[in-house]
Amino acid sequence: MSLPTLDDLEVEGRRVLVRADLNVPLDEGAVSDDFRIVASLRTIRELRDRGANVIVASHLGRPKGVDPAFSMLPVTERLGELGGFPTIQSPTVIGPEAAATIEGAPEGAVVVLENTRFEPGESKNDPAVADGLAALADLFVNDAFGTAHRAHASNVGVAERLPSAAGRLLEAEIEAFRRLLGTPERPYIVVLGGAKVSDKLEVIKHLLPKVDLMLIGGGMCFTLLEAGGYQIGDSLVETSMIDEVRAVLDGPGGSKIVLPDDIVAADRFAEDAEHVVVAATGIPDGSIGLDIGPVTIRRFSAVIEEAASVFWNGPMGVFEWEAFRAGTAGVAEAVAASGGYTVVGGGDSVAALRLLGRDGDVSFVSSGGGAGLQMLEGKTLPGIAVLERWS
Ligand code: ADP
Ligand code: MG
Repeated sequence: MSLPTLDDLEVEGRRVLVRADLNVPLDEGAVSDDFRIVASLRTIRELRDRGANVIVASHLGRPKGVDPAFSMLPVTERLGELGGFPTIQSPTVIGPEAAATIEGAPEGAVVVLENTRFEPGESKNDPAVADGLAALADLFVNDAFGTAHRAHASNVGVAERLPSAAGRLLEAEIEAFRRLLGTPERPYIVVLGGAKVSDKLEVIKHLLPKVDLMLIGGGMCFTLLEAGGYQIGDSLVETSMIDEVRAVLDGPGGSKIVLPDDIVAADRFAEDAEHVVVAATGIPDGSIGLDIGPVTIRRFSAVIEEAASVFWNGPMGVFEWEAFRAGTAGVAEAVAASGGYTVVGGGDSVAALRLLGRDGDVSFVSSGGGAGLQMLEGKTLPGIAVLERWS
């Protein structure tokens, strides 16, 4: 099925509701990192330039109902500064106050609705919330890839009610993942890390037949090492996953999984813990693996640099702490240095890439973690499927 885009909408003089991903980190009520706001500008600018009356909706954090600490106001202000256009904050998500704000907005102003999660029905795709959103606009544009794997009122319910299309950012995300899902150039290497193997086992299973090698580090590698019969000391492990993981390791394609050779092992889970490099096959009791070791970094980097297609999700260690950042930094450097088609997804992996200043050196930085993994699992994401109905 084909995806309707902004090219398919007549927007001049129409009210266009854009579901953006403006879920930025806040620090004492101020926006501490505005990259998601910057990323959303392309669609909003295009719609404004084409004469649409733009209304923006997003969630912010995880409030349980109305909570002033999660008001969109600081985001709305920053959006106006960055975009160079007037912005107006609606006091509510839906209802007469929101309608009046939109009605009274001057020509060219962008109205930002309050945090969609202030409506308890948002996450349940409550028809009343979807109706309320649909009543505010003539057309709907979804530009929020990060929530596309969830069926909420502000991405699925509203798209069932208004003629809809994908925004430019969502379009680019889908294109990037379709490129990896289709016939990516070989060697095709997937690098996985992050805390939990339970988050990523489905994607491992789905991708193994398609990739040439899968490099696995991060907290999740210890469940694989344990399933392989090695000593993992006191490292993170998901005991309930071991049988399933062992079946994957022993199954077809299991030999494509590359586990670390060496591990940075700490005496406790702390930023200033004492740490040594040990063989991944024998982490002593009382030691916790918090990063991949130097031999592994060299081995992973060599594979990544030679790859023609790379997907990376999940840090190799507890990169938030400098002592355990080298593995993630090494992979980030290698992905950035690779001449292949490189896609990085996942909140923490992207944060690591940005922390290291290498986000400009990869082919595509995805705004979605779970959504990207579900795309690669071959799943149809509800937020995308609903748009395809309008093609
Ligand atoms: P992403 O957001 O990129 O998808 P995840 O959320 O799956 O990544 O995992 C990121 C988290 O995993 C980070 O907070 C990191 O500190 C943690 N992590 C990585 N390696 C380890 C480890 N060896 N032990 C414990 N936690 C780890
Ligand atoms: Mg994460």
